Amino acid sequence: MTIVVKVGGAPGNSSGPVASDLAGRPDCVLVHGGSAEVDRIGTALGAPPEYFTSPSGVVSRRSDPRHLEAVVLGLAGKVQTDLVALLGSRGIRAIGLSGVDGRLLLAQRKTGVRARVGDRVVRLADDLAGTIERVDSTLLTWVLGAGYLPVVGPPAVTAEGEVVNVDADQVAAAVASALSATELVLLTNVPGLLRDPNDPATLIPQIPAGELEAALPLASGRMRKKLFAARDAIRGGVRRVVIASSSVDAPIRSALEGRGTVIA
Ligand code: ADP
Repeated sequence: MTIVVKVGGAPGNSSGPVASDLAGRPDCVLVHGGSAEVDRIGTALGAPPEYFTSPSGVVSRRSDPRHLEAVVLGLAGKVQTDLVALLGSRGIRAIGLSGVDGRLLLAQRKTGVRARVGDRVVRLADDLAGTIERVDSTLLTWVLGAGYLPVVGPPAVTAEGEVVNVDADQVAAAVASALSATELVLLTNVPGLLRDPNDPATLIPQIPAGELEAALPLASGRMRKKLFAARDAIRGGVRRVVIASSSVDAPIRSALEGRGTVIA
């Protein structure tokens, strides 16, 4: 009964409570993002974050070679290392794996990435973003079987060996599907999907899986990517997805008890 937990990396996320809650939970896989750290490192390297809007209105991080460097250093270098160290301090034997390690996350590079610029659409030929094609579940099962907690994050790698950026919520959905996880818990800096993103009292407690498509317009920005991930996970056979806060006490237990937005 595998549970996949993803912890976000935008400001307002807390990994401490998540790490404490993972102690004594075998068969969990932790997936991480880390946008704040990527932004910080990118800025220090002279490549502050840039975003673009696709013709269909989805906002994505720019992943040209300069920005991809910040993704690799920020996620595989800093966030993952810190999480593995934190888990170790809680008595959890953890192993960090980026999607490149063992080709854990095999991706197809997105060709023809397009951005809206004013009333024109331009092609971003140098964008190194990918779509996950396959997760090596054997590697994860092997790590779990040896008694270690896998800590997984972007980037991914293509069959040709190109390192590409992938969305961490998509990673979580792909890992949960590949492992036939029963639950996917997406922990973030808000209590769940909110009717008004500025008002935590407007939490939507439940979305039947069949009504997920209709709920998409409620979410803007990054929250929409979580709903896409939830949809992919449910399609991939995951029974229940919970979007919940990472910064409450025992955030995983709390989410599994239904505090957050439950999609099933
Ligand atoms: P993380 O790093 O935890 O994955 P993100 O910044 O990627 O966090 O996504 C969560 C953010 O989505 C929230 O902080 C909020 O600003 C934004 N958001 C947009 N629409 C909604 C909504 N309807 N409900 C909740 N959050 C929303």
